[in-house]
Amino acid sequence: MSMTKRETRDYQNSDASHHIHAFLDQKALNAEGARVMVKGDRLNLWDNDGKRYLDGMSGLWCTQLGYGRQDLADAAAAQFAQLPYYNMFFHTTHPAVIELSELLFSLLPKHYSHAIYTNSGSESNEALIRTVRRYWQVVGKPDKKIMIGRWNGYHGSTLAAAALGGMKPMHEMGGMIPDVAHIEEPYWYVKGGDLTPHEFGLQCARQLEDKILELGADNVAGFIAEPFQGAGGMIFPPESYWPEIQRICRQYDVLLCADEVIGGFGRTGEWFAHEYFGFEPDTLSIAKGLTSGYVPMGGVILSKRIADALVNEGGVFAHGLTYSGHPVAAAVAIANLKALRDENIIATVRDDTGPYLQKALREVFGNHPLIGEIQGGGLVAALQFAEDKATRRRYANENELAWRCRTIGFEEGVIIRSTLGRMIMAPALIATHAELDELVEKTKRAVDRTAKEIGLL
Ligand code: PMP
Repeated sequence: MSMTKRETRDYQNSDASHHIHAFLDQKALNAEGARVMVKGDRLNLWDNDGKRYLDGMSGLWCTQLGYGRQDLADAAAAQFAQLPYYNMFFHTTHPAVIELSELLFSLLPKHYSHAIYTNSGSESNEALIRTVRRYWQVVGKPDKKIMIGRWNGYHGSTLAAAALGGMKPMHEMGGMIPDVAHIEEPYWYVKGGDLTPHEFGLQCARQLEDKILELGADNVAGFIAEPFQGAGGMIFPPESYWPEIQRICRQYDVLLCADEVIGGFGRTGEWFAHEYFGFEPDTLSIAKGLTSGYVPMGGVILSKRIADALVNEGGVFAHGLTYSGHPVAAAVAIANLKALRDENIIATVRDDTGPYLQKALREVFGNHPLIGEIQGGGLVAALQFAEDKATRRRYANENELAWRCRTIGFEEGVIIRSTLGRMIMAPALIATHAELDELVEKTKRAVDRTAKEIGLL
């Protein structure tokens, strides 16, 4: 990076000339120019013009420890000096990955025993599909190949991960893979009709049973879902949902695969979101908060049942990445997990800052004319826009309204995300009461200004 200060417009023009951004209309972005972020500290980000933003989204749901942790930088530097790279292919391993596994499995529920390391959430889900199918081959049920996901679920941007996800525009761009099916998402506010949340949760879960029966249990390998949907709008399922899903998976011997890429590492105030919702997956896909996003790393966590079969009866496991278990990533993950554990950060989210944020949001937005529902737990939350709260009718242009609110948020110096008609926040887990107050206050300004623009306030 050049040390002389460059003008923002210069950066933007260069970026526009060479860089395809994620999930954006490039032409529209180029006309406006991307915001150039240059520095971070705790929950704060600064752009190239010195404007400060409170990051209400932990980057992309990943900077659990916030920005600027010297211990993570030191861990990376020490590992760079000691052994910056080695692979796992040549009958070799290294202390960083060994110690990471020891630490990870000391934090995970006891029925998990093995990890396959990757560099991202997408790669974790790619590896998951191959591993789950391999498991069924090894135990003599090779026909069990089909993965069932959910419409509006998100599992990554690579081909198979995007196929598992339920984002139709992603299926249209680049195609689908065979042996993937989808069921409806448990989004009660929009899809629940006259059912109570409890009834709707059961109904959504039973779609899984119907789908398994339609496809034949002997052909279904696994069901994958995020414990709470993240990219699809930060949707918490009704309480009846997960117990019923678990019952169905057990009954038909379908592996229950939790995508913990967003929910993992403390977001809900538990180490993993499946613990918050009280179910027991067979596999966990992880990434993001594993390293607080400081370096790329992910993984698939396997239960003993799966790992035992693969290790003892599976022979050669024909899968591997050049950077699996990368020593620098592993060293950063160790420093990150130690900080989350030893600084009591996750317990603080569960007992203090999580309830503090949830209460503040309900106090501030409970009677807001634009907001129909407030969902969330721990340090993740969504505000649902509604035109008529009694009937849960939404604005026809809710996407635009939410996008506008997000843009106003940037103007007000807060980064919150919009998805469909929902405003989402997921601040770093180290957030103090004062930082959460600032988040709520600035979000309120953005929501109020949005409401004013449509004549509500
Ligand atoms: N799964 C979930 C639940 C995610 O939210 C994401 C990314 N937002 C992914 C997988 C993909 O992760 P990555 O972008 O690291 O490939």
